[in-house]
Amino acid sequence: MQIFEEIEPIRAYLDDQRRKGKSIGLVPTMGALHQGHLSLIGASKGENDLTVGTIYVNPTQFNNSTDLAKYPRSLEADIAQLTQAGCEVLFKPSNEVMYGKTDNSLKFDFGQLDKVLEGKFRPGHFSGVALVVSKLFNIIQPHRAYFGQKDYQQFLVISRLVEELKFPLQLKSIPISRETSGLALSSRNQRLSEEGRAKALLLVKSLRFTRDELLNGQNINDVRKEIQARFDGTPGAKLEYLELADRNTLEALQHGEKESAVILIAGFVDDVRLIDNMLL
Ligand code: AMP
Repeated sequence: MQIFEEIEPIRAYLDDQRRKGKSIGLVPTMGALHQGHLSLIGASKGENDLTVGTIYVNPTQFNNSTDLAKYPRSLEADIAQLTQAGCEVLFKPSNEVMYGKTDNSLKFDFGQLDKVLEGKFRPGHFSGVALVVSKLFNIIQPHRAYFGQKDYQQFLVISRLVEELKFPLQLKSIPISRETSGLALSSRNQRLSEEGRAKALLLVKSLRFTRDELLNGQNINDVRKEIQARFDGTPGAKLEYLELADRNTLEALQHGEKESAVILIAGFVDDVRLIDNMLL
């Protein structure tokens, strides 16, 4: 695997590859890689001649400095995993390379789409995501870019970004990788104790329960009361939101309509913030 840290050398290398007719797939990550990230790499490898993975913990998408400081980092293990997965190129820029001396004042506004759910609880998060993803799209100029369904709202925001700014690339959404227990894989799981991991199952169990209740005709407000009680009854667990929304607009819904709704959840387990979602 070729590793680049600066913009000009990777641009020159990829320009050359494009001239040779090679297609390029991009998989942006913040490192602390797990099987979920590797499934994106695998999807890209299946559809492109060259896969570029990126590892960059982007400060502008963190609204909480403790969360940024505690974000897990494991570069050596990440490089070993990417190599093993057959990723051809890794771009791992520094803050200096990505932001230089700019004052980080460039902001994005996606209207309602970035004001609800994650956007409501993490103000500025999606502006930071859109900024760093735009930079990566301009540096790498991929033919296809791969994102996980785990960050459901992020995919919708990036779709709007691509549409509005006319990035000439195809976006791909990859299903959520889960442990056999159902726990959605997440870099943040590394911060959980054994007991914390067991408690974290509350998220996927809540999604399953909500899905079944909605399909039985219950409305989300009644289901949320039950889920809230389960969180309240679990020491160290805190529910941030449980919402039923339109799959494309994220507009809140009362009753679930199969094929058009998604259930999204966020909460804390022992001070670690986790998210998950499930299509109805
Ligand atoms: P992150 O490093 O958390 O920013 O994630 C990088 C990419 O991997 C994002 O597109 C995520 O949606 C995706 N991802 C993270 N966890 C999972 C998972 N469990 N299953 C599928 N994709 C994931």
